[in-house]
Amino acid sequence: SYVGIHSTGFRDFLLKPEILRAITDCGFEHPSEVQQLCIPQAILGQDVICQAKSGLGKTAVFVLATLQQLDHLQDGETNVLVLCHTRELAYQIKNEYNRFSKYLPEVRTAVFYGGTPVQKDIELLSNKDTHPHIIVATPGRLHALVREKKLRLGNLKQFVLDECDKMLDQVDMRRDVQDIFRATPTQKQVMMFSATLSAEIRPICKRFMQTPLEIYVDDEKKLTLHGLQQYYIKLDEREKNRKLNDLLDSLEFNQVIIFVKSTLRCTELDKLLRECNFPSVAVHSGISQEERIRRYKEFKEFNKRICVATDVFGRGIDIERINVAINYDLPDKADTYLHRVGRAGRFGTKGLSISFISSKEDQEVLSLIEKRFDVALPEFPEEGVDSSSY
Ligand code: ADP
Ligand code: MG
Repeated sequence: SYVGIHSTGFRDFLLKPEILRAITDCGFEHPSEVQQLCIPQAILGQDVICQAKSGLGKTAVFVLATLQQLDHLQDGETNVLVLCHTRELAYQIKNEYNRFSKYLPEVRTAVFYGGTPVQKDIELLSNKDTHPHIIVATPGRLHALVREKKLRLGNLKQFVLDECDKMLDQVDMRRDVQDIFRATPTQKQVMMFSATLSAEIRPICKRFMQTPLEIYVDDEKKLTLHGLQQYYIKLDEREKNRKLNDLLDSLEFNQVIIFVKSTLRCTELDKLLRECNFPSVAVHSGISQEERIRRYKEFKEFNKRICVATDVFGRGIDIERINVAINYDLPDKADTYLHRVGRAGRFGTKGLSISFISSKEDQEVLSLIEKRFDVALPEFPEEGVDSSSY
């Protein structure tokens, strides 16, 4: 695990002084294991495929490696493209670029995603004074910009996929990614990241790369997060609201994320919680883009302490203060479970997850989770758990 590896510092990576200063400002003292393993090769331009537990700092690997390699910036040229699967994640990654390029004022970064007026993106791209050197985007919107020749990728030097398995698993996203990839030069660095990279998806990822550095920080069985306590509660569907209410009253949470299986349930549960005076906000794919980002910010900035979400919020999202994740509805896949509960206990901090089990199917998924990640989930004790443990 991360603790105890203090022999290497960020200074040892020989990064630009402007980047090192920004790292210090972020309060990063030591690189995590995945950062130690990837950054030295990544800044030399090698392709990278990396699976590492959620919350251990994969974002900084590609943000630092791409910023480090940027030079001879030209107006009107894009050198770095990062693709990810949701708008909130794109927005979050763009913020990471802002943090780490604070002392590189000439570097321009932009974020593009669907659900917003495409005309704005086109305007930004058509003016060489605003044209970004780095683009973070979701595949659909980016593909449209490339297809319409509003964006040219002939000068691209780095191509990054975050949550790569998710993007290559889904047929429509995969097609967009492939088309975008074809619009880029052959000579470039390709980097891909995820907490989950099944044996089936790895060769598909590697098809985009040339002799990549392959980093699998933990094999899948050991992916479960240290410091995260995981429990289940068996109950009837109709007891869920009551139980949730009790939990929100008794748990000492900083921020809590509650996962449900549909947009409709998300809206309804959020409404119910607010009626009970819980400071809740809902995030799902059924709301407008501006509103989604507004709610994401509201939660991230601690103006709301409870977020009810569908799986659009389940992967990659980093909100430091979340210490409790509740599966109001259990997902139907073990992978999804891992990405969801990984929202609590970021960067080795403590956390608690509780999963409601209300059907035979849930019970089966629970067994799959236990098998897949080699953990035993105990039943949540009647008397609760010591709040100092999360
Ligand atoms: P991942 O993508 O691997 O799930 P993130 O990149 O989202 O993880 O990072 C999780 C959190 O850890 C973020 O809040 C990030 O700022 C923080 N973090 C990353 N690297 C370090 C570090 N070396 N020291 C301290 N905090 C870090
Ligand atoms: Mg991530």
